[in-house]
Order: sequence, then C-alpha cells, then structure tokens
Amino acid sequence: MKDRTLGPIRFLLVGALCAIMASCAGPVGHGRVTGQAAPPAQPEQASAITAKPGWMFLRQAVAAANPLAAEVGLSVLRDGGSAVDAAVAVQMVLTLVEPQSSGIGGGAFLMHHDGQRVQAFDGRETAPSAANERLFLDDTGKPLSFPKAVVGGLSVGVPGTVAMLAMAHRQHGKLPWSRLLVPAIQLSEHGFPVSPRLHTLLAADTSLKADPVAAAYFYRTDGRPHPVGHMLKNPELAAVLRQIAVQGPAALSRGPVAQAMVDKVRQHPDNPGDMTLDDLELYQPREREPLCHVWRASQRDLRLCGFPPPSSGAISIGQILGLLARTPQGDSPLTNGLPGPGWLHRYTEASRLAFADRALYIADPDFVPAPAGRWTSLLAPAYLDQRARLITPTRMPQAPAGQPGGAVSSWAPMSDQPEYGTSHISIADAFGNTLAMTTTIESGFGSRLMVNTNAGRSGGFLLNNELTDFSFSPTDALGKPVANRVEPGKRPRSSMSPTLVFDDTSGELLMSAGSPGGAFIIHFTAKTLLGTLQWGLSPQAAIDLPNVATTGGPLLLEEKRFPTDTLQALQALGHTVNETALTSGLQALQRGTLNGRPVWLGGADPRREGIVAGD
Ligand code: GLU
Repeated sequence: MKDRTLGPIRFLLVGALCAIMASCAGPVGHGRVTGQAAPPAQPEQASAITAKPGWMFLRQAVAAANPLAAEVGLSVLRDGGSAVDAAVAVQMVLTLVEPQSSGIGGGAFLMHHDGQRVQAFDGRETAPSAANERLFLDDTGKPLSFPKAVVGGLSVGVPGTVAMLAMAHRQHGKLPWSRLLVPAIQLSEHGFPVSPRLHTLLAADTSLKADPVAAAYFYRTDGRPHPVGHMLKNPELAAVLRQIAVQGPAALSRGPVAQAMVDKVRQHPDNPGDMTLDDLELYQPREREPLCHVWRASQRDLRLCGFPPPSSGAISIGQILGLLARTPQGDSPLTNGLPGPGWLHRYTEASRLAFADRALYIADPDFVPAPAGRWTSLLAPAYLDQRARLITPTRMPQAPAGQPGGAVSSWAPMSDQPEYGTSHISIADAFGNTLAMTTTIESGFGSRLMVNTNAGRSGGFLLNNELTDFSFSPTDALGKPVANRVEPGKRPRSSMSPTLVFDDTSGELLMSAGSPGGAFIIHFTAKTLLGTLQWGLSPQAAIDLPNVATTGGPLLLEEKRFPTDTLQALQALGHTVNETALTSGLQALQRGTLNGRPVWLGGADPRREGIVAGD
C-alpha cells in the first residue's frame, strides 16, 4: 500500500482509530489488531481485521475493496480519465482480484455527480423472461432452502454491470473504452497474488468446487485453495475482456460468451435455470431519477442522494436518519467513542419501522407502483413525524408498516431472507466528477458457476445469484401477493446504497459512501453518514465505529466492541441482543479542508482489504 497521507492528519486519524478499537497492536496500516478477527458467524465470511490509516488527498481519489483495483483506478485518473473511466477499470480488475464479490457476471448501481447534475445508473440484473413467481418453490409449493436456491443456474439474473458502465461511459467517459480494459487484461494474463480474504473465503466455501471450471481455477489438485500470494492467472477472463474491449457490452449479449453463459445456466446438472440468448440481448440498463431528500445534521441541511427502487437503500437509510432526528436526543454524541444504550435503542426502533415499510412496499418500480404515487411519500416529513411517535422509551412489541401518504397497501410483507457478497467503489476525479458505485454478484462467489468459452484456457468469470433477492414466497399464507415476488423481466429488490451527500444550501458535494453487506448495507452506510456528518468523525474513524444492525428481529452488535453494561441495558429495554461478526466493506470519500484548501478525506473498511489511492 502506498502511503500518501499527510503526516499530522494521519496521526490524528490513527489516534482516533486506536481509541475506538481499544487496542492497537502492530504497525498501524498493516498490522493485525489482535483479538479482533471474528469467527464466521454469518454466511458472509469475516476475515482478519486490519487497521487502516485513513487518507487525505488534494486532487483525486479512488476508494475500492482491493489495493490493485484502487491503484489501477488512480492510474486511469492520472492518464486524464474521468471518475467513470476509473470505475470501469476498477470493476474489470475487481472481476479478477475480488471474484467473490462483484464482476462482469453481476449487477451494479452507480450514482454520479458531474458538478451540476446527479444521475442514477441502474445495472441491476433482471429475471429471465421464462421466470415466474414459483421460481423458488419446490414441487410441494414450499420455498427452497437458501443454499439450494443459490447454487446453480436457477438463481442467475441477466447481468447488467457492463451494459450500465458502458451507458455511463458514453455520457461521462474521457478515455476510450478499450483503454480501460487494458489493466485487467494484463493482470489476468500475468497473474495477481491471491489475497488473504480471497483465500479465507475459498477455504470456507463448500459449493464452488462442484463447478469443474471454478474447481480447476481456484483450487489445487489436492482440493485446497491456492495459498495467499500465489500468482493466479486467468487467461480465459483476459480473452473475454479483450472481446469486451472491442465490442463493448455486446460481447456479453451475443456471440460465444453469451452462448457459454446460457449453456452454463441451462445445463446445470441439478439446478438449471431458464436464461436465453434473447434475455441477454434484450437487457437494458436504465437511468433513474435519483432519490434525494434533506437530512438535518449538525445544524445544517444536507441533501442525501441515493439509489431509488429497485433498491431499498436510500429510502431505508433516509427513514432511519429521519426518524432518529425526530426522537428526543436522537443525535446524542458518542461516549468514550461509542454510542450508548439510549441511542442504540432509538436507532433500533427507527430501523424496525424502516424495515417494516421496506418489506411491504419496495420492489422494482417498473412492476410495483410507489405508495401514494411517489417513493418520497416514505420520506415525507409529516409521515416521519407520525412514525417517530411510535418510538417510546422501551422496545415496541410490534413494528408495523405505515401508510405513507395515506396509502392502503394490498401487498403482503416479504419475510427476511439472507443477502450477501458485494463491493463498493467511491471515486473523485480532478474534473469535479464524483461517483459512488455498489456492485455485486450477490452471495460470496455468486451462483458458483464459472463461465468459460474455451476448455484450453483456465478460469473465466462467475455468474451472479441475484434472483435470490426476490421473495421466495410469492404470497403470504392467505394468498396476498408480495411486492418483491419473481416476475419475468423484473429486477429484484436490492439493499445497495451508493450515496452522494450535498450541502443543501450551497449544493456543494460533501461525500460519497457505500458498502456491501446485504440488508445490513443500510445500517453500515447509515453509521458512516452519522459518524461523519453528525458526530464529526473522519471517514476512517466513522467506518471503524462498531457495526449495529437489525432487520426487525434481534438487535445485532458487532462482537467484542460494546461493554457488557450496554448489552444489559438494551436487554432491560426489551431487546434481544446478539453479538456477531458484522462484516461491512465500507468505502468513503469526504470533502474537507486543510489550510483553506479543499481536500479529499478517505476511509476504507478495516474488516476487508480496501484502500484509498489518490494524489
Ligand atoms: N444482493 C444484495 C443487494 O443487492 C447485496 C448483497 C451484499 O451486499 O452482500 O442488496
């Protein structure tokens, strides 16, 4: 990792990190913080926690989940590329070096600000045209178990990431598309060192080896994953990227790569899917109206712009922050670097109300109308005032969905389902463009299907399992439909929350942030916004704060980060509290000033391998 941070600031940020993490063993920036490595308590595997220094740059910055990818993004900016150019290059490299999380076989959301206008580019996967609401039901009409649904062709959505990036590049690219593929092609050919996190996840995965292409690429002949540092070459991915360099997204929607994808999905031995060449050919990325609303924090009005449905991210974050701001002491400061039980209680109750609305209302807007005709009804001040009154000093027995704008819903709420495996990129260029992009193949290693067009070449790319973000049950027990049920051509509801923050008065861009983490993305991103914009922490210190999450049931606290008396106080208020690994992968850039000059402050999550590279 190249350290381009400015000395005194680095020292301050490190100090804050050490204070929050209670102990700082080993050299900062590279050392392990002992006692923090978490067991794999969630299906989304944790890996070691590595303290990050926090970064500051004067000109431009790229925050990504892997150092090689971030450095490639920076090299594109240095060549005169725009933020979107860098995002294209970063995504192609992530396909290679962080294959568990995102790639050309998946989907993504991109928020972009060009200094004037905010845009939301939707590259979310779609259900094949042959899919129907019974996709994840067995012969007796019961929902499949999650692992059974994930592995194989059934869960694969029509990929959208490359088509979406090409759309954004047509509007905001400065360098030729083909140039942006070069670093990933070279790395695929020459090899990249297997990272500790990739190794850990490969060792823990039990399904990837069932795919002969993935088994031969990721594992040695004795069945063990390649060791950390092994130079892994992916000549098949290099060949596919070459075709994308020349043909753009068409290389994935027709021709031999498209055919290989369709074959892989349809010919899976025990869990085939229905995707066709037509589905690939007909896929369209979309430009959507960004979802923006005002949040008052630290006595100023901020404008939060996030991804609208099919993501639930912006609405749910907006509701949580809006509800908290309406509770007495909703903005109480940290004590000894941690939120106390009173704040945690109010946060939990606000989250339970937000997740109840999410479960009832949010789905693909091309299929499901917004309550009261507009999604912002869920964020209307009068509605939030009314919802905030449900938050009392003790845990409310039930947190029901509300009636935004007087809407009477005919939907049944969607039950909780696991979601995991994603990456976040934040980039600011020297031209005044800033972006936030969250990108995913859903679970770690997606559907565990690796596409290969030529058996003589090792490797390929992984296909997503994004369709498991749909409700497995199309209706409730009484036959009332769930808004987020499977329908042909529909995009599954997401939690991805790429977020851009502005000063509402001046219009100045203040921040770009986001995270992986399934439904918990909402909490991880909300924490970072609260930490920076409400509590005045640096992006790094905010990311380092312990994670807190709930989807309506138990309150989850990141393990070993809160004192016992906090847990006991929450239990006394009626909460069921579980400590667990909450593996966020936050990345954030925030505008700051140093001696009157604007700077970019950057943070990357100590729970994963990201860095911020910049000048
Ligand atoms: N598939 C999830 C979503 O779109 C993201 C999964 C994750 O972040 O781990 O919300």
